[in-house]
Amino acid sequence: MLLRAVGRQMTSVIRHQTAVRNIAISRVALGGGGHHHDPQPVYIPKPGSLDWSLCSSPHAKSAHPFEPYKPDVGSFVGAVVFIGLTVAAVLLKTDTFKKDDGHHHHHTHSHSKQSSHKKEEEVVHHEEPEEKHEEVPSLETRNTEEVHAAHEAPAAVEDPVPSTSKNVDKEAVASESAETKTAEPEDNSAEAQEKPEGTPAAGHDATPSTSKVRSYHFKYAFKFLKSLERKAQNYQNLTFLFFQTAEEPTTSESKEEKSPLHCEYVIIGSGTAAYYASLAIRAKQAEAKVLMIGEETELPYNRPPLSKELWWYGDESAATKLDYTSLSGKKRDIFYEVSGFFVSPEDIPKAVHGGVSLLRGKKAVKICAEDKKVILDDGTTVGYDKVLIATGVRPKKEKVFEEASEEAKERITYYHYPKDFKRVESGLADKSVQKLTIIGNGLLASELAYSIKRKYGDGVEVHQVFEQNHPAEDILPAHLAQKSSEAIRSSGVDLRAKQKVEGVRKCCKNVVLKLSDGSELRTDLIIVATGEETNSEIIEASGLKIDEKEGGVKADKYLKVTDNVWAAGAIATYEDSILGARRVSSWENAQISGRLAGENMATAGKSEKAFWYQPSFFTKFAPHLHINAVGQCDSSLETVTVHAEPDPENPLEKAVVFYKSKTDGTVVGVLLVNVFGPSLDVARRIIDDRKRVEEFKEIAKLFPLYELPKTEEETKEKSA
Ligand SMILES: Cc1cc2nc3c(=O)[nH]c(=O)nc-3n(C[C@H](O)[C@H](O)[C@H](O)COP(=O)(O)OP(=O)(O)OC[C@H]3O[C@@H](n4cnc5c(N)ncnc54)[C@H](O)[C@@H]3O)c2cc1C
Repeated sequence: MLLRAVGRQMTSVIRHQTAVRNIAISRVALGGGGHHHDPQPVYIPKPGSLDWSLCSSPHAKSAHPFEPYKPDVGSFVGAVVFIGLTVAAVLLKTDTFKKDDGHHHHHTHSHSKQSSHKKEEEVVHHEEPEEKHEEVPSLETRNTEEVHAAHEAPAAVEDPVPSTSKNVDKEAVASESAETKTAEPEDNSAEAQEKPEGTPAAGHDATPSTSKVRSYHFKYAFKFLKSLERKAQNYQNLTFLFFQTAEEPTTSESKEEKSPLHCEYVIIGSGTAAYYASLAIRAKQAEAKVLMIGEETELPYNRPPLSKELWWYGDESAATKLDYTSLSGKKRDIFYEVSGFFVSPEDIPKAVHGGVSLLRGKKAVKICAEDKKVILDDGTTVGYDKVLIATGVRPKKEKVFEEASEEAKERITYYHYPKDFKRVESGLADKSVQKLTIIGNGLLASELAYSIKRKYGDGVEVHQVFEQNHPAEDILPAHLAQKSSEAIRSSGVDLRAKQKVEGVRKCCKNVVLKLSDGSELRTDLIIVATGEETNSEIIEASGLKIDEKEGGVKADKYLKVTDNVWAAGAIATYEDSILGARRVSSWENAQISGRLAGENMATAGKSEKAFWYQPSFFTKFAPHLHINAVGQCDSSLETVTVHAEPDPENPLEKAVVFYKSKTDGTVVGVLLVNVFGPSLDVARRIIDDRKRVEEFKEIAKLFPLYELPKTEEETKEKSA
């Protein structure tokens, strides 16, 4: 039985692969070799994610971007040994320092005498702070000298620390440089290598005495304690500076002077595009320091489940934890990372191995491209080497609801954020919401109507009100839009098509909507989902170009806006080589464009790649209606729909819709209804080929519209 099942599975895989190979062959024959593309941007799977592990990323196996945060047994053991040594050092300190001082003076002195000039330079470079430590046993003196050393070392003076308190800064740098040296194995080995040559008592040194070994340990133990003490002091100072700046400055110039943070890579926004860009930067540049600035207080999260999975598969914990149990049985939540993934903003400038930091609840208001600074709404500034704009979109406001009384407004939610899900879900769960009205006919409004009805069934009255004829009619061809209306109605949603909301007022415990046909609709809660607008204030304030038609920030095909500035996700209007200027508001676009922008930022001037990928989207807003689409799926274009014959055994009616370009009739979009498998890649190939298609029935054969004919074995099995 098992063998037969495995055999069947293999046959099916081989048949699918053969189909894909045929497509590739037909493309070559048609396209005469096709045109060249840059390699496809790669996916980075979330660590531990089952779904994304299927992505074909060369980076997928590289744990590097996550390595600093993984449990590291070696470091743990090292830390335990180190603490042990530290305790020993404190206990034996006085005695041993007396013993070893003489020896070390001797060693240092003779070493400097006998080394060549180049070697002396090297020794000074690597060992100067250590020699000073040895000569000065008292804490106070050592402290002064270390700071002094750092003052004199130009290489150690970095930008990242605040300029308002220079003494603090230098001390911070001093402690960091001492720490770095302690941590670096080269320092130890350099010292060890010098010994046989430079120490007259080389014979003794070959087998170090116990007291020498101890002195080594004491030296590092002492430095470790000192650095911890100073680190704590510095962080306190930095934290203080960082969080105090909000109250201090009055003019924007004086605010700018503070410049409390500088980060190599700054990302404005903390959504999907931002998150993937941060991973891509670190995948390309292992020790990169990335700072995300996010207006929201949430950790970066995945938005689509807010209208789908959380409703379909969430239980009572969904409203608090934003989690659900996927069909595979795995508990998942919407967040890309736990908070421990992120380095704190105060620590990021000094993070030896870099990392990704998140500044939450802060809005960036201006990019000063010339000064390479971002100004935040609280007046602080953040310096950058390269910056990414990933500010996405927000719900469009509707005049009629904006003009409602404050009391009525309490019953209105523009659905976009996790808090909106929590509000609606908890209202439904505690039955304070039993009548719900959703405004809009787009994908979000339609998904919500379906998902909420699916979860709460007869426990809730769901009305969907819109001015158009059918849900999603700006995407679906008219005949499919009509079918979807029927499907939604059959699932129990009350569709109020061709209705404009003319007024809204509070009435007792509810609100009442006045519709354009004169009727009134009493409801407990109103969800407005009528569209989106770009978060583009920062673009205007920064003097960057906004695309007049699409509304996003103008970027080229490399997602570059101007020198050292890139854009990705739903805010970016980029040049697509086939479809022209596009702004795509979809999850996959945010993921892939974020990834690509991150790569291009990290490899700027070396190997930037153009954005050629056609992002897809998925939606489901009625039972038996799974839609996947790619390219320009706009119902104002001419469409050709190829349907499969209805199958009495299968309620999923399958169809492929081709959207034809207005100018040359080539296929610019493909929408798949209940068609799965590798079909999206096939659709991308068709768009990519830019051929005029005459025989749509033929080309539709590339999609699994019908069950594949049964193999001989399967037929025998059935008849047996
Ligand atoms: C409920 C819902 C369901 C969806 N379902 C789907 C779906 O099924 N399939 C699909 O393809 N797409 C879906 N989308 C759309 C998809 O989620 C978005 O296209 C995608 O999240 C865009 O990603 P982004 O990173 O560009 O922007 P966002 O994810 O919106 O992130 C932008 C972030 O930047 C922050 N920000 C904005 N301005 C500033 C500033 N000045 N300073 C600091 N931070 C700022 C915002 O607060 C936000 O957190 C859905 C959207 C919603 C709302």
